[in-house]
Amino acid sequence: MVKIPESKVQSQKSGVDSKYLVNGYYPTIGIECHVQLKTKSKLFSTASNDARGAEPNTLVNHVCFGLPGALPVLNKEAVRLASKAAYALGTRPQKFSKFDRKHYFYPDLPKGYQISQYDQPIILDGKITIHLENGIKRVINITRAHLEEDAGKSTHPTGEDYSLVDLNRAGTPLLEIVSEPELHNSEEAKAYAKELWLAMKYSGVSDVDLYHGNMRFDVNVSVSKDPTKFGTRSETKNLNSFKSVEKAVDYEINRQIDLLEKGEKVIQETRGWLDDKQKTVSQRSKEDAHDYRYFPDPDIPPVVLDEEYLMGIESSLNKTPEYWRSALEKISLSKLQTEALLEAQAELGSSYLELVTAQTMECAKTYANWIINFEVPLRRELLEKSSDLKIDDNIREKLFEQLYLLQKDGKLSSNNVKALLVELLSQNKLPDSVEKYAENAGYIQVNDSAELEQIIEKVITENPKPVADVQNGEMKAIGFLVGQVMKASAGKANPAMVQQIIRDKLKV
Ligand code: ADP
Ligand code: MG
Repeated sequence: MVKIPESKVQSQKSGVDSKYLVNGYYPTIGIECHVQLKTKSKLFSTASNDARGAEPNTLVNHVCFGLPGALPVLNKEAVRLASKAAYALGTRPQKFSKFDRKHYFYPDLPKGYQISQYDQPIILDGKITIHLENGIKRVINITRAHLEEDAGKSTHPTGEDYSLVDLNRAGTPLLEIVSEPELHNSEEAKAYAKELWLAMKYSGVSDVDLYHGNMRFDVNVSVSKDPTKFGTRSETKNLNSFKSVEKAVDYEINRQIDLLEKGEKVIQETRGWLDDKQKTVSQRSKEDAHDYRYFPDPDIPPVVLDEEYLMGIESSLNKTPEYWRSALEKISLSKLQTEALLEAQAELGSSYLELVTAQTMECAKTYANWIINFEVPLRRELLEKSSDLKIDDNIREKLFEQLYLLQKDGKLSSNNVKALLVELLSQNKLPDSVEKYAENAGYIQVNDSAELEQIIEKVITENPKPVADVQNGEMKAIGFLVGQVMKASAGKANPAMVQQIIRDKLKV
């Protein structure tokens, strides 16, 4: 009988930290993640792999239906993307891998088996470094990752005595990434899910659109009083957000501890996550590997990759999230800003990181702030209205450069930087001179001291009480006076300058 590679973790278990203890139990979590590869066609046929928005059963052919005599032909591009994914997981693809049939009966699996990889998958022994809140990093080992075809989709209309099957998704190429059971709380599980998402996005192998199920997480959770032994695990399937990974893990840890404390047993089963109820529910008891009657698929020759092929892949790799993290660390961005930028680049797909890391430290911090606090919310808002939003990376770069100078010269307040940035980015065009544009639209601050002095004189005369307070050393009242000047100037005064003039005038 073929045997899949053994988990190496048993030896590491004795080192489990007591900080993970929950009521005297050690939680253990291992995550399986299905990543949809972004090929044009399916894993074993020429049918389209872009099921988004298509009518049911329109992206199908004889292979998807599993018609007698239909022969699968392996999609080269899927192998290329899986090979790239290997590097994103900190390893190289296996030079020899093969496909196996995994048998089970389900209406959305017309062949009666799924083509997958069992004992010789394309990826073995990877790793992912996770980043935790307190700045701690942990390396999580990846047991394996294999290529497999997705099944179709069944729907069960409520109150009807039939089910519907849509085979558009049948045959979609998936990379299933299996972690070692080395995670020990929900924070680590969530950080792992997020890191995998970044890794798959940055390597360009998947669209990683969680909402459309491009990446789905199955969390295996067990608890045990004895750190050298695993408890019985449950597997909660098809989680499609980092938050639900976190919540499902916490829910399962507590549920299992409650059961054990009551003297009951945890059963090995597959569970589902109800997002509206924030709980897991039992779906079915779990098959063991031998129930699947795996055997090599005689229709598909093994995949053999030579050194030249791997070198070709290596020369085409993108920069990794780790690369960008250290580049951002070098310009002293905070962890919060770093993570927000990494996510923004992955989610919104612009070259923010190139732009930010090319700046000097002070400017990089300002750009990061604009991107995270002004542009990202704007893009999300615009994306909701129209999916073909375009903001040119070139336009952003030039716009930022000019806004930065204007702000530095005190000509723009940060509120007005935001207003301009939002206005110009959503138009996706750049005026010849941002300064002229800002002037015409009334955004430029008044730095003309004669003009400011006039307004300030008036505010001082009209507000004797706060003026007296300031003179008596109550500095809070200065803020009020500055506010009055800002109001009188319709927001155009340069607040730093206003404050200085007031101080000079009141001699404080
Ligand atoms: P299957 O494919 O049947 O779900 P695997 O042996 O491939 O089984 O394991 C699936 C996942 O479960 C892996 O990520 C592994 O790390 C994790 N796992 C295995 N045993 C445990 C356990 N006792 N507690 C938590 N996770 C576990
Ligand atoms: Mg599983």
